[in-house]
Amino acid sequence: MLGLMQRHELLISSIIQHAARHHGEAEVVSRRDDGRIVRTTYAALERRARKLMSVLRDLGVVFGDRVATLAMNSDRHLELYYAISGMGAICHTINPRLAPADIAFIVSHAEDGVLFVDACFAPLVAAIAPDLASVLRAVVVLAEPEDMKPLALPPGMALHCYETLLADARDEPDWPVFDENTASGLCYTSGTTGKPKGVLYSHRSSLLHAMAVIMPDVVNLRATTRVLPVVPMFHVNAWGLPYAAPMVGAALIMPGRHLDPVSLLGLMDGERVDLSVGVPTVWLALVTHMRQSGARFETLRRVMSGGAALPRVLVAAFSELGVEAAQGWGMTETSPVVTYNGPKPATATVDHEARLDHSVKQGRVLFGADVRVVGPDGGETPRDGKTQGDVSCRGHWIARGYFRLPESEIADDAWFPTGDVGVMDENGYLLLTDRAKDLIKSGGEWISSIELENIAVDHPDVAEAAAIASPDEKWGERPLLIVVPRAGHEPDPEDVRAFFSGKVANFAIPDRVIVAEELPHGATGKILKSELRKAYAPRD
Ligand code: ADP
Repeated sequence: MLGLMQRHELLISSIIQHAARHHGEAEVVSRRDDGRIVRTTYAALERRARKLMSVLRDLGVVFGDRVATLAMNSDRHLELYYAISGMGAICHTINPRLAPADIAFIVSHAEDGVLFVDACFAPLVAAIAPDLASVLRAVVVLAEPEDMKPLALPPGMALHCYETLLADARDEPDWPVFDENTASGLCYTSGTTGKPKGVLYSHRSSLLHAMAVIMPDVVNLRATTRVLPVVPMFHVNAWGLPYAAPMVGAALIMPGRHLDPVSLLGLMDGERVDLSVGVPTVWLALVTHMRQSGARFETLRRVMSGGAALPRVLVAAFSELGVEAAQGWGMTETSPVVTYNGPKPATATVDHEARLDHSVKQGRVLFGADVRVVGPDGGETPRDGKTQGDVSCRGHWIARGYFRLPESEIADDAWFPTGDVGVMDENGYLLLTDRAKDLIKSGGEWISSIELENIAVDHPDVAEAAAIASPDEKWGERPLLIVVPRAGHEPDPEDVRAFFSGKVANFAIPDRVIVAEELPHGATGKILKSELRKAYAPRD
């Protein structure tokens, strides 16, 4: 149609080009393995990412190839994000916390030809390399030449130094232009429900998701924001921040592998970080450290949490420290952010306690995605905050299927079943009650394990808690609670049980409370309930 608007492909490379042109001076700060802090800018990073495209081509990477990264958050990892996707290849981020056998499986499944790896993961690569001889051609260590260490690789698998390759590379003047529906990234689900499955993101989906994440009622990113993603770049693309921050010129502060509370606090204060993003287990450790040391945040004002339920008690603890904490919800298959708990007129005006109560909800739906809670009759449940159903979603950044699993393919407008169970309230806020596989059904009544856990961690002697279903002859299942003591405290099981009185229906009060030294966590920080069931509530 004549006179219509221009059409440009929604390409990931356009983000870093914009950042270089209009926020060229904005900083990317990274902490290296040895603790050193290095600084670069979006302008310099864009130049190196272009050069990196010619490195990739010289390594034999072509359009559509998968290129793996096994790396923590850093400027180099960010360059790789842009160079790999920018040349039309697929950036396959791998979680180094997975079992080595799982990593070998996904590298083989994805057929990654080249692997970029942080020096600290070299031993892991040495261990799995013999199983990958038929797939992997080259391993590139993200290091300076003087920091290179010998690494035994099978014959035919080359070892390279990242900075040497870049120093020797040709300049690449242009970013190629291609279809926005080209695959840009690949991330395998944690595999807590069977073999890991690959989710393939596109340029278009990643770009639209990042724009949605930036919005004021979501992460609210601005050119003046200094954001520290604790969430790793191998965990669903660090929830879109590596794209969202350069889009608006926000400074990115990359913690590398230094994720303990003391290091994080030092980096936050030293780099004037005002926003940080991560999973609840990280926040729990940080808040505990703040309490024990009496330290205060110098500049941190906001925290975004996701990946698991954010307990009320953590929001309250952050509030006492002058920090506003809010949660979003999603999964690898949903890029991941689908809902975020931003205020509405109906929720913004309520008092502090009511706001804390409201903060346990996973939030309302972002434009660009949609959510349905479906009851047993196949219809949407009423928005009453009570009627539970299966949560499904669809939208611009929701998976249509899994990589190389044709039988998983669904239609573009079909609802993707998330496996989560929840309720929707009258204001459109989703509250998750469980994963479908973790549901507790006692005498015909559903009991929310998330609600029990939220209450348990409010108990002064409890640091962390998990509720699971224990088989029961009379009731089918009964809730069993496993708690980890707060440092220096000794929770009394009867006292913890009594703590539930009046807070939930009597039938939902856990029959048994077990005190444990620690809870098993998966590769993305989630509590592994399957292991807890095996240990404490086996079904034979
Ligand atoms: P991710 O790697 O993003 O954590 P996974 O696909 O491994 O994604 O897990 C996604 C699951 O994590 C969701 O289906 C949900 O059960 C849980 N989850 C994510 N965010 C939240 C949240 N804010 N509250 C409760 N559960 C959450």
